[in-house]
Amino acid sequence: MTQRKETVANHDTRLQVVVALPAHTALSGPLTYLHTQPCPAGSLVRVPLGQRDVLGITWEEDSPAPLPPGAAGSEAPPALSARALKPVSMVLPDCPPLNPAWRALMGFAARYYQRSLGEMALAALPPQLRDLSPEQWQRRIRRLQKAQAAAPARGDSPLQAVSAALSPSPQQQQALDTLASPAAHDKPVLLFGATGSGKTEIYLQAAQRLLATDPAAQVLVMVPEINLTPMLLERFTARFGTTQVAAMHSGMTPAQRLTNWLAAHLGQARIVLGTRMAVLCSAPGLRLIVVDEEHDPSYKSQEGARYSARDLAIYRARVETQHGRPCQVVLGSATPSLESWHAAATGRYLRLDMPDRMGGGQLPHLRLVDMSQQPKGAVLAPALVAAMTERAQRGEQSLILLNRRGYAPVLSCHACGWKSHCPSCSAYRVFHKIDRTLRCHHCGFTERVPRACPDCGNIDIAPVGKGTEQLEEQVAALLSGEVRPDGQPLHVARMDADTTREKGSLEAQLARMHSGEVDVLVGTQMVAKGHDFRRITLVAAINADSALFAADYRAPERLFSLLMQAGGRAGRDADLSHQGELWVQTWNPTHPLFAALRTHDFARFAQNELADRETAGMPPFTYQALLRADARTQEAAQAFLAAARDAARTLPGVEHLTLYPPVPMQIQRIANVERAQMLLESHSRPALQHVLSQWHAELARCKALPAAKGLIRWAIDVDPLAI
Ligand code: ADP
Ligand code: ZN
Ligand code: ZN
Repeated sequence: MTQRKETVANHDTRLQVVVALPAHTALSGPLTYLHTQPCPAGSLVRVPLGQRDVLGITWEEDSPAPLPPGAAGSEAPPALSARALKPVSMVLPDCPPLNPAWRALMGFAARYYQRSLGEMALAALPPQLRDLSPEQWQRRIRRLQKAQAAAPARGDSPLQAVSAALSPSPQQQQALDTLASPAAHDKPVLLFGATGSGKTEIYLQAAQRLLATDPAAQVLVMVPEINLTPMLLERFTARFGTTQVAAMHSGMTPAQRLTNWLAAHLGQARIVLGTRMAVLCSAPGLRLIVVDEEHDPSYKSQEGARYSARDLAIYRARVETQHGRPCQVVLGSATPSLESWHAAATGRYLRLDMPDRMGGGQLPHLRLVDMSQQPKGAVLAPALVAAMTERAQRGEQSLILLNRRGYAPVLSCHACGWKSHCPSCSAYRVFHKIDRTLRCHHCGFTERVPRACPDCGNIDIAPVGKGTEQLEEQVAALLSGEVRPDGQPLHVARMDADTTREKGSLEAQLARMHSGEVDVLVGTQMVAKGHDFRRITLVAAINADSALFAADYRAPERLFSLLMQAGGRAGRDADLSHQGELWVQTWNPTHPLFAALRTHDFARFAQNELADRETAGMPPFTYQALLRADARTQEAAQAFLAAARDAARTLPGVEHLTLYPPVPMQIQRIANVERAQMLLESHSRPALQHVLSQWHAELARCKALPAAKGLIRWAIDVDPLAI
């Protein structure tokens, strides 16, 4: 490779450049290119790759050597094997390099989640950066520089809050004092605060304190879902003004994402607020990271690099600190993940408690409805209907939770037993009455409802089971004839992924809720998350039992958290809160989960659950990874996994792991793709990591086996949330 060097005059400096190679192409480190002069690591460059010119990032010299060609998945493309060194096409001008802490974060994330460095690092950049011409790039930069020049000079005057901070309650003051102490900088802080205890105000004040004392400091605030960003953005911009706060989530246009990313990268945005992707963003002055609702599973990415934004936030704070800029990380929740709870219990995290709600609001009373005592076939217990009616007559609102959208989960023919199977998935298509369609919630396949049974011609095909759409209809029927204080009929509405799909519809529905126009809201769990509905005084979960006996060992944790969070919606207004009630319809009223829920005792629930997990050898007492395979046939998927398992058995250190046999996934087929998985487990995280890191080369070999013919893709999921 080196004998070409003389022929490329002037291009005599070698640069290591990371580019986005698909994970299955090569789990490699950087590629070598030539350039006319040295260029600091972290610079954005464009380089030729095969026939294309792609975006890349220069990396340090001593980056890990690439694995052998074709080490992961398929063969390396011809461009990469035995290639002559090519020159860098251009270095993006006027862009400060991505700093060492950011590069360390990318290196860690790639290693830990078993992806290529290039895939991890390039996916962390705004997509539009990849497509910009040099001219477009320069125009962008100039516009930002102009904006910066026009804005009051940062650095001369510390950040001024636009609106004043609220004066902290004693409980908040204590939390703020502790946050300022060295102990809260040595380790992650778990802010365990009831819903409505004023956690968000803590984030605001901690940010304000930091930004006022350090003119270069930046704060990252994360929320689990896009839906929650507008609300938090509003609170932050009300406090700090719009120019200092940059949003970062997948709901923005590519142009907005680039603008906001640049604002953060150039240090203009003092506060970056976004969803899990925000943890990967460049923020050279990062000094505080907040992970709100840290227990939420949405922080774990379910595709591509399957990273946990919460876990990366913790790593990131540590690595920023190691690079000389102390960075604090705060995880907030009323129902922490059992991982975080356990970490606090064992002293790895510092726990801060805020048990009291602002204004002394009480948590709601639990009303368990024993379904075995209700009239046969009742959807809602009569007492619950009466309670909702009473509330509506007083001008208060109720919320009914059901975790299944659509009208009915399946249509069925009673004559022949036909069911609305999806032809491409091992799942039923859901009946949506509103447009009379059968829709597959997995592959999206949608058809008009047939007039008669496709198998036997019977015209009497009927919905089985219940979704939110049907529940809305039934609740409206149950409440018809009742009137509000203003004499109007009661208004029942529904909020779920179907009703909020269109842009702006979520905001419109939230506004109707807040204005009091809606008396009873039927919705999926998305309603329970984070929204501050002050007039809701009753929350009802009508089908909670499904989670008590689910195969997923995390289901009770999710249920408890959902009910606590949903209950937290009830009675946020202290004036009304003595009336707040959480109704749960169950066939198992003596289940211990409800005993803890009755006393709002998360600690007790967590202790019970952790004891069970320890006995069963489940996380957080063990560490897991899944190898998933998608293939044309289930046999091919399992053959690949079985071979991979055999290969793993030969790796050094495997004696510290348990390798489980391949199994079909719970939804075995989606869009005609067969899915299977195998689980790896260990009591030691390093031991698991050690085996995983050696496994990739073996997996490439397994893929080529004749028995695995038909394999489409495979992926490793480290710390999977569902197994
Ligand atoms: P959490 O994030 O824990 O749910 P919030 O920060 O949203 O709690 O606070 C709940 C409510 O109490 C909000 O309406 C908020 O404006 C109000 N609040 C919080 N802190 C204070 C304070 N110190 N003084 C007055 N009101 C406060
Ligand atoms: Zn039939
Ligand atoms: Zn389908």
